[in-house]
Amino acid sequence: MSNFNQLLDRNVNYTRGFSHGSLQIMPKLPTVVLTCVDARVDPAHFLGIEPGEVVVIRNLGGRVDDSVIESVAILDSLAKRFAGEEAAIEVAVIHHNDCGVSRFSNPQLQQALAQRIKREASEIQEMAIGDPHESASMDADRLNASPLLNPTVKATGYVYDVTTGSLEKAGSLATSNA
Ligand SMILES: [Zn+2]
Repeated sequence: MSNFNQLLDRNVNYTRGFSHGSLQIMPKLPTVVLTCVDARVDPAHFLGIEPGEVVVIRNLGGRVDDSVIESVAILDSLAKRFAGEEAAIEVAVIHHNDCGVSRFSNPQLQQALAQRIKREASEIQEMAIGDPHESASMDADRLNASPLLNPTVKATGYVYDVTTGSLEKAGSLATSNA
């Protein structure tokens, strides 16, 4: 973990003048951000999120799967329990261009990954992102249609551009320029 030592040093610096110790467990904003683990795609940076403001979920590609749906369902239940029945969560599904999972359509990589995690190649294909506008819209739709989620939960797809830092609402495949 020698590479981690420089980050530990940064943590020591972080604790100097630390002023977030009295934040409450419930986030200040009723927004859940779902995005990719890509090191270039950090919503704290590109959305200017401060500690205590927003719940962020990250996985490969920022894809909506059963685990994400369950997490959002639980977060929504907790929000209603602690902030009142009128509490409504919005989910921003943020995919990005040049995403690593766009390579998951490659047959050789697909086979290798499927063997590595003991899944079918078709399951790896489901994780693949072709057009991030299309996949972000599709995943937002999947959340909005989930029977596990309260209709007050509203999901919207967005696309982050790793070359410009800009975020835009996901369009349909026909209007995409990605
Ligand atoms: Zn990615």
